[in-house]
Amino acid sequence: MRQVMVAGNWKMNGSSDSIKELMAGIKDGLAAISKAEVVVCPPAVYLPRVSGAADGTSIKVGSQNICDEDSGAFTGEISANMLKDVGCEYAIIGHSERRALYGESDDLVAKRFAAARRNGIKPIFCIGESLEERESGITNDVCSRQIDAVIALEGVEALADGVIAYEPIWAIGTGKVATPEQAQEVHAFIRGKIAALNADVADGLRILYGGSMNPGNAKELIGQKDIDGGLIGGASLKAEDFLAICQAAE
Ligand code: PEP
Repeated sequence: MRQVMVAGNWKMNGSSDSIKELMAGIKDGLAAISKAEVVVCPPAVYLPRVSGAADGTSIKVGSQNICDEDSGAFTGEISANMLKDVGCEYAIIGHSERRALYGESDDLVAKRFAAARRNGIKPIFCIGESLEERESGITNDVCSRQIDAVIALEGVEALADGVIAYEPIWAIGTGKVATPEQAQEVHAFIRGKIAALNADVADGLRILYGGSMNPGNAKELIGQKDIDGGLIGGASLKAEDFLAICQAAE
């Protein structure tokens, strides 16, 4: 039985004050959440503070990125060990904004995935197609290619108990959510692809949906057979909305 996960990607938003308030709000509502694994991914500078606030609660903390190297002359990068040191359990890897705006290729994303795993950080591995790719009918090919880069480097077993976030780029931050059927179709494809290589890995793999998920659409999306939770951007910045999604996931 896969535990449902709701992960908040705060992106480059917030301040010391707003983050304190957001964490207090989420903690206040935690008592009503018993089944979902709740993860928050703040900007890196706030990780120690957020880890401290999450201490003693069920909230898990994740980073929004990770370096593919473990230490050395990599100005501006943050290693998996450093993230672990400040209390991170998860790391978002290969988010479409990093792929599109900072040129992260499938190969680099695979190396970052490997760096996370070898240092005990659990990847939340993002994949997804652009609108143009969807309209050209190559959604599954794009997702396959992105997953294959990780499998080529690490083997399918690297996805055992793993987390993939399927995030159609055209649905991120646009308010244009995929229909539950559209999302389920891709999630089923992803699970089927992994199952063809290793049925046990496919069975344990959590596949989150991301892209304009909100309190109004979360229940129907997460209710789909192969949707095991959500990666939430905009709606994770308000405790009330984030908690409502966590409750929908219950
Ligand atoms: C995201 O960036 O991972 C995301 C899903 O954003 P939003 O929920 O704002 O579409």
